[in-house]
Amino acid sequence: MKQLISFFFSPLKEGVRWNVCWKGCIICIISINSYIYPVVFFLYTTGVSIGFAQKSKSIPSEKPKLVIGIIVDMMRYDYIYRYWDKFETDGFKRLINEGTFCKNANYNYLFTQTGAGHATIFTGTTPSYHGIISNSWYLRLKDKIVYCTEDDKVKTVGSDSNEGQASPKHLLTTNLGDELKLSNKQKSKVIGIALKSYASILSAGHSADAAYWFDNKTGNWITSSFYQDSLPGWVKEFNNKKFPDLYIQREWLTLLPIEQYTESLEDDNPYEAGFGKQLRTFPHNLNNLKKITTRYNILKSTPFGNTLTKDFAIAAIVNEELGKDQYTDLLVCSFSSTDYVGHLFGPTSIEVEDIYLRLDKEIAHFLNFIDDYIGKENVLLFLTADHGAVNIPQYLKDLKIPAGYFNNKSAITLLKAYLNAIYGQGEWVSAYNEQQLYLNHNLIEDSKISLEEIQTNTAQFIIQFTGVANAITATTLQTTNFTKGIFEKMQNSYNQKRSGDVIINLEPGWLEQTEMSTSHNTAYRYDTHVPLIWYGWKINRSIITRPILITDIAPTIATFLNISFPNGCTGEPIRELTE
Ligand code: ZN
Ligand code: ZN
Ligand code: ZN
Repeated sequence: MKQLISFFFSPLKEGVRWNVCWKGCIICIISINSYIYPVVFFLYTTGVSIGFAQKSKSIPSEKPKLVIGIIVDMMRYDYIYRYWDKFETDGFKRLINEGTFCKNANYNYLFTQTGAGHATIFTGTTPSYHGIISNSWYLRLKDKIVYCTEDDKVKTVGSDSNEGQASPKHLLTTNLGDELKLSNKQKSKVIGIALKSYASILSAGHSADAAYWFDNKTGNWITSSFYQDSLPGWVKEFNNKKFPDLYIQREWLTLLPIEQYTESLEDDNPYEAGFGKQLRTFPHNLNNLKKITTRYNILKSTPFGNTLTKDFAIAAIVNEELGKDQYTDLLVCSFSSTDYVGHLFGPTSIEVEDIYLRLDKEIAHFLNFIDDYIGKENVLLFLTADHGAVNIPQYLKDLKIPAGYFNNKSAITLLKAYLNAIYGQGEWVSAYNEQQLYLNHNLIEDSKISLEEIQTNTAQFIIQFTGVANAITATTLQTTNFTKGIFEKMQNSYNQKRSGDVIINLEPGWLEQTEMSTSHNTAYRYDTHVPLIWYGWKINRSIITRPILITDIAPTIATFLNISFPNGCTGEPIRELTE
């Protein structure tokens, strides 16, 4: 009993233990030293067998019973080593010490964003094929910007907000979960979990049992009618525990004494955007911060968001009985809070360091749970990130490293004036969205102007702005097959139907003008180079230093499982693992 409870307790803060409620439990809240301590009493009224695997069983099953993908949103490769000395032995260090670490794993396309990253990991192909070219793009037909998972034909399930109006309908290829389902008449279970809807949906795929994400309005885990008509009982029960109501009363304090954060700049530094002016130092009081956002929204930008995610992932494994029969299941758990905090505070902040030290504990808890509930030898786990992030450009500038902020608004205003001067007064630019420029095709056609010519003039004008490294036209990308260098990466982000007429690549260290501390959207190493660690099942302790592409993950897993590669797959199995 004592052991059982400890599996489901999740560490929040040194000395504080937090429960994962999953079945038949009562929460009793005790307030000690001004902190809230939830204490869990398990009630065995249902007679449900807990079914913990024996720890001694260590011969790997023929196929993994459960594949787990852990995605850490915005985790740069160098964080592994930057925080190494502060990690505990059973989190990131355990993954690397007992697993295979691909030290040179990269994305191979330009627009390194969350939607594209998650889609790429699980489809094994680039945005040009899977179609998620960016988190959003301009839809000519409707003359509007569409979000990568937006779908107004489906309804929210689990809340009366509209945050569930999302589906994978824009994902053009199958993914790993789809192929797993196709391989055995849908016997495998596939579930995606992330605070961000698009991270969850684009990991889970089209035929998944469910993708769950966080509802800002209620703090509930929700889904859309694309997947289910109502939430399963265990999800309702989990939501009824109202963990967000408890977290939102708390303060985010540093895990260690603040003077020990020697890897980061001081807490109050001018490079942090923070939660707002005067709101960039510890302690971060959520009760105050919630007033500046939608009620539960703020939780996503704190370590509590990651705790909620991991606890919900454990509840999913237990209640859906993942990894318990002969059909391999797939669970994706994507930690979004690292990205929210990363954008607000930047890679040099104590806040980012702290959220990784806390994530280390979440991972340790998750691995312990797997040991005891399914057995490490039955689970194939990989951990990676959907993209990295650039060091804060102003910080780089102050260190005399080339960097800056591209003022896209003034560039587009000047471009419009330039096009008016050449072609006459008109709305020549339909839209500009995250380094993609969409020209007005109808007007160009009516004016009998060559599309290629106006694209070329636009690109040549844009390239003159400081901070722009490349501007390439859609016509060039359609008529040339680039096989290396930056243009290959730009082509891998290019989809003929969805992309703009001119694609812009900024210089290294440059960001579009932003309110945030940092971001990501380039093909440079700080955005493309992410950790990739394999662990469990038949994975040995090893290091792979040759270049690996993130598109290689899905075909590697498909090879382990003897199933078809996702239908647009362009990656190759990692031979060091599969041969
Ligand atoms: Zn992301
Ligand atoms: Zn700070
Ligand atoms: Zn981001």
